[in-house]
Amino acid sequence: MKDALATRCIHAGEIDDAHGSPHTPIYTTTTFKFASTADLLDVVDGRKSGSLYTRYGLNPTIASIEQKLASLEGAEMAWAFCSGMAAEAALFLSHGRKGIVCLGDAYGGTLELISSQLPLLGIPGHFLLGNELARLDELLSQGVSLVFLETPTNPTLEIFDIHAIAKMAHAHGALVAVDNTFASPVNQNPLALGADFVVHSCTKYLGGHSDITAGALMGSKDLLMPVWNWRKNLGTAIAPEIASQLARSIRSLPVRVHAQNASAQNIAEAMAKHPKVSRVLYPGLPDFPGHALAKRQMSGFGGMLTIEVKGNGDDATRVADKLKLFALAPSLGGVESLVTQPCTTTHHGLTPEERTRRGISDAMLRLSVGLEDPADLIADLNQALG
Ligand SMILES: *Cc1c(COP(=O)(O)O)cnc(C)c1O
Repeated sequence: MKDALATRCIHAGEIDDAHGSPHTPIYTTTTFKFASTADLLDVVDGRKSGSLYTRYGLNPTIASIEQKLASLEGAEMAWAFCSGMAAEAALFLSHGRKGIVCLGDAYGGTLELISSQLPLLGIPGHFLLGNELARLDELLSQGVSLVFLETPTNPTLEIFDIHAIAKMAHAHGALVAVDNTFASPVNQNPLALGADFVVHSCTKYLGGHSDITAGALMGSKDLLMPVWNWRKNLGTAIAPEIASQLARSIRSLPVRVHAQNASAQNIAEAMAKHPKVSRVLYPGLPDFPGHALAKRQMSGFGGMLTIEVKGNGDDATRVADKLKLFALAPSLGGVESLVTQPCTTTHHGLTPEERTRRGISDAMLRLSVGLEDPADLIADLNQALG
């Protein structure tokens, strides 16, 4: 962790092959040969590190991206997965079996896994919104083993105090995992704030171009080793070809995210003054409720913001449908700007009452700010709102 993030993004984990390639080559190989049975057993029994079988993650291209991923979060280790959900599933099965508390609004897949599927295996799931945090202590004393949260959250950009939550969880012997997808490692490093695990959907900012699906789990060696067997036998390691594409994207991650931060701030300020916008939710706005906390625990406010259009859900739908540069698509973190209306996409499955309870109105539009010129993006929003 000596070098600055931008340097680590380029140099961490790169392995030199026999031909002097400056980047790790793609080893598409599924299996690796050994000079002797003794050498093979050294790797199989874990006495030596080495390549063995690609599904195990024991492949040079996968090992290389894992070093790069670990360095992004200042972690001792990282495992790379075929999706963000695969990383979460392996984490929950390894460390959440006594129960998981999910704080705030989490990704739809996360909510479904914890509320509907893990209970089928006897793993209890609990949910607390930001205004119910007083009950966390009580759940922790019942022996819940893992606290899982996103900050900023989707789509209201609520900010949770990672350090305070980690302190509370650790006092009860529970572990804390932060889904850092929205912030990216450029803007926030949860491990440095006391979390035990970081999860990323690399499909978003780390991949950055809306063209790969991948996930990562970062943490200490002690905590990550038990996850390895789950990934191996669930068969959810990243593919070497995707690992190579992910490495290429990560080399430009800080440049992209810094530009997206600046652009989102511009757009948030412009929308805050717009007569057809009733509210702008963005941690970088001084009057945003989580602003002071975000300023303390983040080094940038991110490329995600939510605007609330004056009027009802249909008015917001009309704005979304009229946008030209912002593509109507339910993802985030890419070079192209995207818009989603949470009540028709990410939170469509919830009842209107449940959306209200979570502070999500039908008139909200969530924006993922890409790398287009911010003036063009503001002009697009103005024409759609007009
Ligand atoms: C997309 C996303 C996920 C799931 O990632 P996949 O790569 O699609 O499996 C998890 N958490 C957050 C915050 C996400 O945005």
